[in-house]
Amino acid sequence: MSEQHYNFFESVEKSFDKAAKFTGWDKGLLEQIKACNSIYSMRFPVKMDDGRIEVIEAYRVQHSQHKSPCKGGIRFSDEVNQEEVMALAALMTYKCAIVNVPFGGGKGGIKINPRKYSAYELEKITRRYTSELVKKNFIGPGIDVPAPDYGTGEREMAWIVDTYASLKPGEIDAAGCVTGKPVSQGGVRGRKEATGLGVFFGIREVCNMEDVMAKLGLKTGVEGKKVVVQGLGNVGYHSAKFFREHGATVVAIAEYEGAIYKEDGINEEELFQHRKQTGSILNFPGAKNLAKNTDALELACDILIPAALENVINGENAGKVQAKIIGEAANGPLTPEADEILAKKGVLVVPDMYLNAGGVTVSYFEWLKNLSHVRYGRMEKRFTENMNTHILAQIEDLSGKKVTDAERKFILHGPEEVDLVHSGLEETMITATREIMEIWKANPSIPDMRTAAYVCAINKVGTSYGELGIFP
Ligand code: NAD
Repeated sequence: MSEQHYNFFESVEKSFDKAAKFTGWDKGLLEQIKACNSIYSMRFPVKMDDGRIEVIEAYRVQHSQHKSPCKGGIRFSDEVNQEEVMALAALMTYKCAIVNVPFGGGKGGIKINPRKYSAYELEKITRRYTSELVKKNFIGPGIDVPAPDYGTGEREMAWIVDTYASLKPGEIDAAGCVTGKPVSQGGVRGRKEATGLGVFFGIREVCNMEDVMAKLGLKTGVEGKKVVVQGLGNVGYHSAKFFREHGATVVAIAEYEGAIYKEDGINEEELFQHRKQTGSILNFPGAKNLAKNTDALELACDILIPAALENVINGENAGKVQAKIIGEAANGPLTPEADEILAKKGVLVVPDMYLNAGGVTVSYFEWLKNLSHVRYGRMEKRFTENMNTHILAQIEDLSGKKVTDAERKFILHGPEEVDLVHSGLEETMITATREIMEIWKANPSIPDMRTAAYVCAINKVGTSYGELGIFP
């Protein structure tokens, strides 16, 4: 079968089946883990600014309720279709399991190109979508909790929580109906950069593994590595930022209008401002424009980060990829055929379903904050600072030496919300990377890291079903 015959959901199923062979679970249980539990396909009318009525096509899929609530982003794209939303919802189930976030997988999509609508039209579409979800009991802090994804961000999440809260007066935990909200609307500090930071933490952990780097012929550590990023949206921007801040060189960035190359490194914020002013990433000072945006994927580099959309590396271009490591920041950027070609070439593909789990991990922290109605750090910050002041004074007294002002500031500092969120994310990504690598090392016939990640996910979801007593 040629790869065109697989839609995105079938690709996910294919990867699942490949991994299921390395687990000992009952066939029926594997079928249940794989199946999409609930699919809500909807159409609703929205009156546009020019008075025209447009029928909007939208979806919400709850892939698994083995844990509640379901969790997953909402995508605005004219590529949205039911299979895509199903695939993304399934990936969410596996992703949450791997990073030990106690949610089932869900995903939503509205088939629109957000660039073609005014802010007011987008607000009407988002609010109407939310009320459709409320009507069918497809949203709520204990039911299904959306988040941002491709084409959506804090603004859309603010519209969702406002619509939900107005339809559910008195619901004390209403803020937990959606995550990725602005901090002023119940969001958590550190959510915006979470997915990109998680991508960085995951790849850094891989780069710190001496045996893995030796196999790829690379030096350990992120410092000095050449990085190419596709997509300068939320995930791509922040991935580029953290790699640059930790000593890697981001030599190329691709956007849908083109791609640029700069040997000595691109500062993502400067590029972002350039794009804001000129409407394009092209003609960035000091950089050269590439002929096609997809050329960026084929550049010589150590780490390639696709952070745009699915299927961008496929049977046609996989053979030309020169990167040693591909960090799947986007969901599904590689087709199964690309996977096989890259595995043969010895490229290490760090898989989407755990690598981009930073967003859902911090979403989990946001949801917990909403349910507990208290900001992280509020209870312990002052106490920790007082305690540290006391301990340091004792040490200085006993040793007769004084630490520098910079060290004093660092030691005394009590945790702010963002410190705790970043630290929780770092712990999560390091643990997940090690768990997956352990599974892979323990069974050398597992062909790649994606399959090892699926094995990890299947075992965790399988165990969870067992705990529910469904499959004793
Ligand atoms: P986004 O809308 O903020 O950014 C995506 C960017 O990709 C846009 O700037 C877009 O112009 C660009 N793009 C589109 N087509 C392109 C092409 N052919 N070549 C180069 N660039 C192109 O979306 P995002 O939130 O950054 O999501 C990106 C990917 O990461 C998606 O696959 C999404 O599912 C995944 N993801 C996002 C999150 C999150 O927290 N936002 C979490 C997990 C996974």
